[in-house]
Amino acid sequence: MDLRQKSFRSALLPYGRQSIDEEDIEAVVQVLRSDFITQGPAIERFERAVADFVGAKYAVAFCNGTAALHGACFAAGIGPGDEVITSPITFLASSNSVLYCGGTPVFADIRPDTYNIDPAEVERRITPKTKAIIAVDFTGQPVENDRLSMLAHDQGLVLIQDAAHSLGAEYSGRKVGALADMTMFSFHPVKHITTGEGGMIVTDSEQYRDRLLLFRNHGMTRDTERMKSNDGPWYYEMQALGYNYRMTDVQAALGASQINKLDRFVERRRAIAEQYNRAFSDLQGVTIPYQHPDARSSWHLYVLRWDERVIRGVRDVVFAEMRARNIGVNVHYIPVYRQPYYQSIGYADISLPEAEAYYRTAMTLPLFPAMTDDDAADVIHAVREVAKSLTHKQ
Ligand SMILES: *Cc1c(COP(=O)(O)O)cnc(C)c1O
Repeated sequence: MDLRQKSFRSALLPYGRQSIDEEDIEAVVQVLRSDFITQGPAIERFERAVADFVGAKYAVAFCNGTAALHGACFAAGIGPGDEVITSPITFLASSNSVLYCGGTPVFADIRPDTYNIDPAEVERRITPKTKAIIAVDFTGQPVENDRLSMLAHDQGLVLIQDAAHSLGAEYSGRKVGALADMTMFSFHPVKHITTGEGGMIVTDSEQYRDRLLLFRNHGMTRDTERMKSNDGPWYYEMQALGYNYRMTDVQAALGASQINKLDRFVERRRAIAEQYNRAFSDLQGVTIPYQHPDARSSWHLYVLRWDERVIRGVRDVVFAEMRARNIGVNVHYIPVYRQPYYQSIGYADISLPEAEAYYRTAMTLPLFPAMTDDDAADVIHAVREVAKSLTHKQ
């Protein structure tokens, strides 16, 4: 094929999207025809499937990943005056969940190679007020769980893992979900498996499990053993301020069907990432994603870094050139402390050098299981073409 004559794609290739098949649709229809469309048997079936997959004792489903993180912060006892250390290179929900509980997010800078939170930076920011760490497995590559767990243990902190990107990933041979005090998964359509909207916390702690169950259902219990009093068989008791954060059976049925395909989805993501790595490893002006030797990513995102000293117009011109070729590149993420809301509540003076350098030069390429080899070839072709056309003349 003569690359010079290759025309651009006719339609935009998104950076991510769901894969739903007839089996998934049938599973949902079955629930719609059944007696329970919410709070029926599919919830526990899906919870069990996720817990078993990752090797955790308990799982509690939520209506979305953000609500699940809110639940984890509640279960960890985060409240006014408490500090929680997290990454600035993440989706808004990681730190918003702390704010929901009245706590204070503290941003620690990322490592320049993995783009995950730097354990040394976390350690520097621990104060007597620190109560928890929310570690984000950015792009699907697990954080350094051994170092963070040790830090959390030594300092008496709760380690919450935001694993919205990393279902199916491993650290030192163990699945994400079996590594932290509580781990959150999201089932938004761009994530590894979907329920439309949905989220889950997995944990080995019965105490956290009970707090999570209470929180997702108005803080209400009907468990007679836990109630302060009992007026009769109709009696229910509100013991904390919870929310209606329940997942429906319709969603859970979709999730339980989707998880059967998770290994295959992750395998396909890894194959495409490998294709990209091979294609870009010798390309001047770009850096492929570094992989920590103990981490095995499940590749939610593929982030390419563009070298400002080599390529003209990083990030804006490069972004426009890629979009002009119908490659749905994206930027994940804008450092959270830069958001106007965060600027207005006391984060205006914060600027973390690695997060800033990352934001200036990072670009997410399309990556999802249903992508064809031709789609991947289009991405590779566009990156090479844009890199060559924008390379500074020496
Ligand atoms: C998707 C995502 C969430 C939140 O998930 P929702 O299910 O969309 O609420 C949280 N953290 C990160 C890093 C995410 O990517």
